[in-house]
Amino acid sequence: MNQLSFFKVIILILAISIGSCSKNEDVVTPEEIHWNYEHPDWQTQGFSECAGMIQSPVDIQTSTTIKADLPDLGFNYSAFPIKIIDNGHTLQVNNNGTNSVVYNGKTYAFKQLHFHYHSEHLLDGAASDMELHLVHQDPATGALLVVGYFLKKGVANPLFESILSHWPKQKETEITTTTSIDLTTILPTDKRYYTYIGSLTTPPCTQGITFCILKAPLEVSGAQIDQFKARYDHNARPVQPLNSRLLYEDIL
Ligand SMILES: [Zn+2]
Repeated sequence: MNQLSFFKVIILILAISIGSCSKNEDVVTPEEIHWNYEHPDWQTQGFSECAGMIQSPVDIQTSTTIKADLPDLGFNYSAFPIKIIDNGHTLQVNNNGTNSVVYNGKTYAFKQLHFHYHSEHLLDGAASDMELHLVHQDPATGALLVVGYFLKKGVANPLFESILSHWPKQKETEITTTTSIDLTTILPTDKRYYTYIGSLTTPPCTQGITFCILKAPLEVSGAQIDQFKARYDHNARPVQPLNSRLLYEDIL
């Protein structure tokens, strides 16, 4: 290779590196790297924690859950105005911590809710129509608690309707509305749940998150499911190995 060709090759390599999705975390934060559900091998795309041993979602196999009387989830929910964003992966409603959940003596502020089609967690190998995640955070430690709902086709849900009707026209731009929603309206009478320690189900797949998946499904209509599916028809991460984790089921 002569000197001119050598420089051409170097320039070509540089052009490719600059043009492609960078994997250098010193330059680009993981959140800025593109990822999608078509290729969920995110651990090979710069998100090393996605290969961890305590990942979410999982298949909840009720024959092997540890049945116990688990601590109650203490919901302190009240109405708040919808602040909503289509972040390119899901539809998300944000909140500044006017709502909270008390669990195991700790208070977790409500941060955001979002949806998955179909459900991410499986119940005895079967997916539900959709899944709703209510994400809470302990301000003192940063620890996350996700309350999950299995959504199944049935009667229309007014809260879901309010959220769907404010779907922003532009992606990645949060809009504030004057419409309020109250999460107490979707709390089931039976608040028993499945729980285990897992991870964010999207990159960077941060581990150590407490999941409490309510056993009582929440009904939404077929039309509401279709409305969500028209925008996001596949935003569920495949189930991850349980490895040595225990899965608990609240039975009392
Ligand atoms: Zn989620």
